[in-house]
This record gives sequence, structure tokens and C-alpha cells, in this order.
Amino acid sequence: MPFQLTCPGCGAIHAVDEQYVGKMGKCNKCGTKRRGKGDTHQS
Ligand SMILES: [Zn+2]
Repeated sequence: MPFQLTCPGCGAIHAVDEQYVGKMGKCNKCGTKRRGKGDTHQS
């Protein structure tokens, strides 16, 4: 079951497979680097 992650850069919602949670990835919209789980930073 994929996780839903919010891009910190543009707020886009990404569905990330469980196997990729915790790994670095790039937003396909704005290119902001994001992490899977662990990025619970909210502003
Ligand atoms: Zn983005």
C-alpha cells in the first residue's frame, strides 16, 4: 500500500510505494528533494 507524501516545495501529493519510504526522491513537479518517512517538518 503506497504512502502519501506531501512535497515541502510545492505541496504536491505523491504516492510512494512502501519500499521507497525513507529514501530520498525528487518531486516530479518542482524538483524539490524530499524524503519518504521522517520528514514530519511542518510550517
Ligand atoms: Zn514539489
